Amino acid sequence: MRIARAGALAGLALSGIVAAFATIAPLADSEIPRSAQAEALAIQPLEGVMPDAAGYVREERFQRGDTVSGLFARLGLAEDDSRALSRRAELKQLRPGSALTATVGAGGELQSIDFLGPRDTLVVIARNGDGFSATEQRAQFETRVAMKSSVIRSSLFAASDAAGIPDAIAIQVAEIFAGDIDFHRDLRRGDAFTVIYETLAHNGLAVRSGRVLAAEFRNQGRTHRAVWYSGTQADGRRSGGYYAPDGKNLRKAFLRSPLEFSRISSGFGMRRHPIMQNWRAHRGIDYAAPSGTRVRAVGDATVEFAGRQGGYGNVIVLRHQGQFATLYAHLSGFGRGVRKGARVAQGDTIGFVGQTGWATGPHLHYEFKIAGEARNPLAIALPAALPVPAEEMPAFAGQARPLVARLELLAGGQVALLE
Ligand SMILES: [Zn+2]
Repeated sequence: MRIARAGALAGLALSGIVAAFATIAPLADSEIPRSAQAEALAIQPLEGVMPDAAGYVREERFQRGDTVSGLFARLGLAEDDSRALSRRAELKQLRPGSALTATVGAGGELQSIDFLGPRDTLVVIARNGDGFSATEQRAQFETRVAMKSSVIRSSLFAASDAAGIPDAIAIQVAEIFAGDIDFHRDLRRGDAFTVIYETLAHNGLAVRSGRVLAAEFRNQGRTHRAVWYSGTQADGRRSGGYYAPDGKNLRKAFLRSPLEFSRISSGFGMRRHPIMQNWRAHRGIDYAAPSGTRVRAVGDATVEFAGRQGGYGNVIVLRHQGQFATLYAHLSGFGRGVRKGARVAQGDTIGFVGQTGWATGPHLHYEFKIAGEARNPLAIALPAALPVPAEEMPAFAGQARPLVARLELLAGGQVALLE
């Protein structure tokens, strides 16, 4: 087993992927001799201070509740520099979490400060004669690839928090598998997932997460895998999406769940399992969720009804292609433009969870109908979108193979790799 793992790692390194163990990986630590660890620590530069020929560079993050003068004091700026700078309008673009870099000359005088502004601009305020002047330029990001694994104990977010996976990535994972897994009902303790994703860094500091490149989800004993693929079609159009390693499209004609997946709505289903009554009597699924949770169209559709109707309260009926229709009841309100005859796309917000009509608490009552008959959507094989075109399969396989190799390396393990 050990040998196989080492072999796979060597293979990855040879295929051009520079892999290095993250210092936080417990498995990696145990494999490094103690002396090597101590050495690695000894050569770490003092955090935030990097020697520079012309002086030094300091970095500080603007924190929640922070003031500009407090930030400048931590950076060690001289009183008059701090006063001159703090009046500048550009500093209003600082947000909690923004990293501000100050370059200080050999004589201790401030030369410039810079930080990331909104819309990925780099704001630079530099000494100009007796004062300062500002410029804005396009920020240059370095893309890194992070790989993380976690096991579900209470909720997807608890598991992603435990592994240091950002919310945006956890939500992307839920969306990628939204045609196969209902993240509100289907998650079980012991389910596990692995995700490979891009992170964007500026000056070595992580700025935000990018796209999920590949993911694996083991749910109730079934393994689902996805790889991102972007290709060029025969007519020159670019295509992109998530596919299973065999080229099948992960996008289905219907989402498994009509509820958006968020930190607020997740966990609700784990704590309080949705009520699944007798199909003949109830004909739907009830999702317990906080009022205001977004309800989304499970598939492309035309709105057949949006309004009030007896025990359903505020209700929406969507007519999909073929014989399919879906119904969403007890809503607190409707999405923008959702009225009879309107067209909606899969994933569009059509309304919000509430407790109008005959409802004892906030929940969504959801029905799935085929030719007018209420059916259990869990028991139906749903049609999928088109697979990778045959002529693109070699290109797809070339992109998918190294990602799948990495998923296999990580699945179930706790090794975190960063490149
Ligand atoms: Zn119901």
